[in-house]
Amino acid sequence: MTEVDKVENNEKKGLNFVEQIVADDLQAGKNGGRLNTRFPPEPNGYLHIGHAKAICMDFGIAEKFGGTCNLRFDDTNPVKEDVEYVDSIREDIHWLGFDWEDREYYASDYFPQLYDLAIRLIKEGKAYVDDQTSEEIAAQKGTPTTPGIESPYRNRSVEENLDLFQRMNAGEFEEGARVLRAKIDMTSSNMHFRDPIMYRIIHHPHHRTGTTWKVYPMYDFAHGQSDYFEGVTHSICTLEFVPHRPLYEYYVKELADESYCPRQIEFNRLNLTYTVMSKRKLLRLVQEGLVAGWDDPRMPTISGMRRRGYTPQSIKNFISAIGYTKYEALNSISLLEHAVREDLNKISTRAMAVIDPIKVVITNYPEGQTEMVEMENNPEDPNGGTHQMPFCREIYIEREDFMENPPKKFFRLAPEGEVRLKGAYIVKCTDVVKDSEGNIVEIHCTYDPDTRSGLPGSARKVKGTLHWVSAQHAIDATVRLYDRLFEVENTSEDPDRDFREMLNPNSLKVVEGVKVEPFIAECATKGHKFQFQRIGYFTPDYDSTPEKLIFNRTIALKDSWEKAQKK
Ligand code: ATP
Ligand code: MG
Repeated sequence: MTEVDKVENNEKKGLNFVEQIVADDLQAGKNGGRLNTRFPPEPNGYLHIGHAKAICMDFGIAEKFGGTCNLRFDDTNPVKEDVEYVDSIREDIHWLGFDWEDREYYASDYFPQLYDLAIRLIKEGKAYVDDQTSEEIAAQKGTPTTPGIESPYRNRSVEENLDLFQRMNAGEFEEGARVLRAKIDMTSSNMHFRDPIMYRIIHHPHHRTGTTWKVYPMYDFAHGQSDYFEGVTHSICTLEFVPHRPLYEYYVKELADESYCPRQIEFNRLNLTYTVMSKRKLLRLVQEGLVAGWDDPRMPTISGMRRRGYTPQSIKNFISAIGYTKYEALNSISLLEHAVREDLNKISTRAMAVIDPIKVVITNYPEGQTEMVEMENNPEDPNGGTHQMPFCREIYIEREDFMENPPKKFFRLAPEGEVRLKGAYIVKCTDVVKDSEGNIVEIHCTYDPDTRSGLPGSARKVKGTLHWVSAQHAIDATVRLYDRLFEVENTSEDPDRDFREMLNPNSLKVVEGVKVEPFIAECATKGHKFQFQRIGYFTPDYDSTPEKLIFNRTIALKDSWEKAQKK
């Protein structure tokens, strides 16, 4: 097969460009026909939806082609890293439905081998200790169009370099006093080749290796080699690493032979509208109390989305819809929300809740009587079953479902108008009760006893159908209504503007005194997904207790009204 044939063949199979590369490498028998990827988070924050895109690629491609994917914590900077983050990362990957079995690795596992490699490179004259400050080194870097300047320490003897590097690691020098640099080329057109720093001194204890090390490798000196030590064949990352690739290959070449060599492939990162996606910014939101924590349901973190009620399937469906390319893009958060609605529509329990209740008295319904009406749990699920909901003389409906002076085409309740109470009777408004300020406090209706489902009058058509709950049986709840965390569509458009100024001041609205049907309280266990009819998708918050029910609105039911009309 020619190269062109191969590409066409892969495209026919619907493979994305990374999958095409992997398919070709496997077909060519590279690396002994093995496929091994890795997901390499730095444990310096919680994972966000961007990481989910990388996870779906790294684990997904291994699954698809019968390979394996390692979880590797890229823990080379002890100052920012923490076990809390390690634990959260594990939980989030499992929640997304992926597993690394016993392949949990840490870059810090390779500190001895990396140190040995550094010593070898010093001995071969390929690395030197520089005594300059980071500012001096940066000033000598040059620009992409002008060459850099060689350090005055560049030509130190091997003996002196060995001695100094070992003393750096023995803790003899202050942080920042010296670094180890690769001796490559200060005139290279690739800035990363201009004697990149390999090691820096850090005195902060490491969450796994304690105080064993006083020198820590830079990302570029750790990543490719870690891939190599682990047997990773395809090291898939995001586009900002394209300029690092030659350096990745340079270091790996020091280790690899013809039988096996890891390869870096880059795809476009996920950027979402109305969101920030940098761990540094997310950390500031948490530290400055601008959100309730990493798992605040407004956060773009995986833990936040879980708490809010997003499903792993919806996140995966979204990621598969946007795909993987070589071009940076800004994806609309509406696409993610669409995927969430689509999945929740299939799986959520239908039930009734009234967010802003107003009482309706059905004046011709016998006082003290209760009857049960049957409600479908999920019309999308043939095995969804039904539940019973109490109906009696006093009920609540949504305040906005009544208008005293309605415009034309208002198909909800109005004086002398009729609506169907979903699953129960047709009622007609006969009167309203107002307080001294003229606010409506109660609506009076009569019901048509012949219109309940199963009775002859049930076929009678009215334009509107309302959700409702029995006033006597309803249970009080609190709901948290979330909106987008940022009010600016592209939060990185203006780099001079502080991202905190772009926060949406109305991203959280807490509503007390919500009335929910008893069935909701019965099912309100952690993780349960509800559709509160005509309102949206809800899930119990972690703070919810049987005594004080609290629900997060996962997402509004965008076309709820149109749907209700059609029924
Ligand atoms: P951030 O920029 O949010 O701090 P990071 O790249 O520093 O993220 P890492 O923990 O190093 O975070 O990322 C682990 C992996 O996730 C890397 O392979 C990285 O390329 C990938 N990744 C990070 N952010 C995104 C994103 N927005 N879209 C796709 N992949 C991402
Ligand atoms: Mg990173």
